[in-house]
Amino acid sequence: MTNQNTGWKFDNSYAKLQSKLFTFAQPDPVRAPNTLLFNYKLATAIGLKIDPTTEAAIANKLSGNELLEGSQPLAQAYAGHQFGHFAMLGDGRAILLGEHITPDNTRLDIQLKGPGATPYSRRGDGRATLRSMLREYLISEAMYGLGIPTSRSLAVVTSGEPVYREEVHEGAILTRIASSHIRVGTFEYIHQFLGKEDLEAYTQYVIERHYPDLKTSKNPAFDLFKAVMDRQIDLIVHWMRVGFIHGVMNTDNMSIAGETFDYGPCAFMNAYNPATVFSAIDTNGRYAFGNQPRIAQWNLACLASALLPIIHTDHAEAVQMAQAVLNDFPALYEQKWGNMMGNKLGFNNAAGNIDVQELIQELLQWMALNGADYSNTFLVIQSDTQNWEGIYAAEPFLTWYARLQFLWKELGIDIADAVRLMQRNNPAFIPRNHLVEQALDEVCLSRDFTLFNQMLEVAGNPYVANLSFSALQMPSDTGDRLYKTYCGT
Ligand code: AMP
Ligand code: MG
Repeated sequence: MTNQNTGWKFDNSYAKLQSKLFTFAQPDPVRAPNTLLFNYKLATAIGLKIDPTTEAAIANKLSGNELLEGSQPLAQAYAGHQFGHFAMLGDGRAILLGEHITPDNTRLDIQLKGPGATPYSRRGDGRATLRSMLREYLISEAMYGLGIPTSRSLAVVTSGEPVYREEVHEGAILTRIASSHIRVGTFEYIHQFLGKEDLEAYTQYVIERHYPDLKTSKNPAFDLFKAVMDRQIDLIVHWMRVGFIHGVMNTDNMSIAGETFDYGPCAFMNAYNPATVFSAIDTNGRYAFGNQPRIAQWNLACLASALLPIIHTDHAEAVQMAQAVLNDFPALYEQKWGNMMGNKLGFNNAAGNIDVQELIQELLQWMALNGADYSNTFLVIQSDTQNWEGIYAAEPFLTWYARLQFLWKELGIDIADAVRLMQRNNPAFIPRNHLVEQALDEVCLSRDFTLFNQMLEVAGNPYVANLSFSALQMPSDTGDRLYKTYCGT
């Protein structure tokens, strides 16, 4: 039932599932909760009626000090392959408060990140640093603005308590909103530790929740696998479109609903180079920008393995069926990627056009060779040639551009249409790494939200260049070769 005062309406389906899938767990109260960020737009969009003057009440509830009416806090069990190695995991630093039903009947997980230890915390403290929660807030909201499926951020509440990492940090709790937190790793957990009936029941649950069209499927596990693969391909194509590097694509960080989540060491690529890696722990570049499609396929193979017992009673047959689907991954991905890159140059449905694809490859090679900025190069291409300078006003770029124009003409493409298509696909604003760090410094050290709020503002409308914020479009002068990101718990 909806709480008339606040708009919260919990209906907790996960808490009714088989008990080995989670452990009920209460957030640990914090000393002095204080609301630092609250996403009023998101709150309104999901049907909350939170009065801005009641910040104290928000802080109490979204720190976990007071339970939201109707919530049933629990920590989810899951496993996963981390950098290729299987491990038992689970919500060690997060607690699911429950599922909120929005006025348009969408079911959303409401999760606190950093609410204290749970039975899955192992040696961790279950807490999160203010800096990493601010980072997740900014980047997840930027991904949303870019039109990319993602978990979202409702609030950051400081705890008034220190968090001990290599240094002492301020602690904070993020309220994360997602279609669900069901992962590839959740299926791996069930496959490894529970029974075949559990796997069947859970598959049905996931289908009802995320793929209702498959409810009448004759082979639910097999069809679910194909559907997850489709959504993952779409997601990775989005990441490749905007230069997003997730940074830690372990199978426990891959959502079954096809949303970007578990923002840790993620970052955006500036100068185009498929080998770009920022995560300090990714020393072999397993999760490099250009490896993301291959890793998605690898992760999907883990999902297939977990589902095999219910894909077919005959193991060899099940393997063959799953393998056949997985084998289609590269071609399906190439198709969607080719169309997406075509869109970035003003072409519709160009995956099958050899000339367009050749042009794309040449552009990428040129960018890599010249250290050209991935985002801004496309902005140049869609802009008026009169304003070009530097490497864009010289050979070989000009000849390349002449060929692009020739192809537009040959394919009968109206230039104004091409420009509109490019503008919808080429962001003017991505969160630039050096600015993200500067904004976080300014908030953490002096509670100065100027830059942070500017970045949030442009992140809300990233496809429209805004002259007053043009400084936010530029990569760092010194490049980001030395830039490092951390799982930063
Ligand atoms: P992640 O790298 O964020 O995907 O986390 C991997 C695993 O470590 C998950 O099971 C997390 O719940 C757990 N974890 C990460 N940080 C902490 C922490 N500070 N305390 C307890 N568990 C944590
Ligand atoms: Mg994770």
